[in-house]
Amino acid sequence: MNENPMVHDLSLPVEHDGRALSGVASMSRAVTPGEIDVSHGAILYLEDVTVSFDGFRALNELSLSIDVGELRCIIGPNGAGKTTMMDVITGKTAPDSGKVFLGQTIDLTRMNEPSIARAGIGRKFQKPTVFEQHPVWENLELAMKTDKRWLASLRARLDRSAQARIEETLSLIRLEGEALRPAGELSHGQKQRLEIGMLLMQQPALLLLDEPAAGMTDDETMELAALLNHLRGTCSMMVVEHDMEFVAALAGETGKVTVMAEGRVLAHGTLDEVKRDAGVVESYLGR
Ligand code: ADP
Ligand code: MG
Repeated sequence: MNENPMVHDLSLPVEHDGRALSGVASMSRAVTPGEIDVSHGAILYLEDVTVSFDGFRALNELSLSIDVGELRCIIGPNGAGKTTMMDVITGKTAPDSGKVFLGQTIDLTRMNEPSIARAGIGRKFQKPTVFEQHPVWENLELAMKTDKRWLASLRARLDRSAQARIEETLSLIRLEGEALRPAGELSHGQKQRLEIGMLLMQQPALLLLDEPAAGMTDDETMELAALLNHLRGTCSMMVVEHDMEFVAALAGETGKVTVMAEGRVLAHGTLDEVKRDAGVVESYLGR
């Protein structure tokens, strides 16, 4: 049972037919304030976004959009502006100029970090940040409790349905067997999965993951890819990553990959297409 009308609205059609919202149900439905209007198919839209640090353009008229339900991989050399882009989307950095929208109507440049998180954007940083002293299940419970809106909407039914969601999430992140262990005892890969679980407890519409496979073993990396692939249809995702095997596991043959360099999009297409792109070979893959 999904108590969050925003996510409910987004996830149902995607789960049912496995493709992005075509709008049959969603378009005819009036979009009330606070919900995400994805009637045009985009969950995230950036246009001509520029960010300068002391005159240096970390983002240089960057434009891109992510379809609702999509798992988009972003690759590109160090310093390309990938993390800065996530900082802009989450409200950590204000752009000098440009548009940043969640759905059709939610202007993220006018919002602060907490309200952007509440609007449905979850962010996973490189280093896992879990509550080391607390058991795994309690980490998930604490993550859920920071969502005041969800709490308020439930009240009486909280205990039972919260328990169910914790169990569901534990199984999704494959930590059922570790539920009672302090999070500090988990392996790096398990901690990363736990943190993703904590983000999922907030039922995000869009999940941003910045180099989630960094520091993982090959097995952990592939397990993470399996988890993210499994989350398709639950939320839209933007994944920044260097590990090309991981990217291949997420993008498959048809998924779109965006290559960033020098603060803008250098190439966009399937992994095969961007790998063959002359500019990409020269500035990134060929080195
Ligand atoms: P990526 O994540 O693609 O490696 P970043 O977004 O971290 O790239 O950085 C893009 C560029 O912006 C880099 O040259 C970096 O040094 C610079 N940069 C990022 N954040 C800041 C900041 N707060 N102050 C000054 N320069 C920054
Ligand atoms: Mg970065």
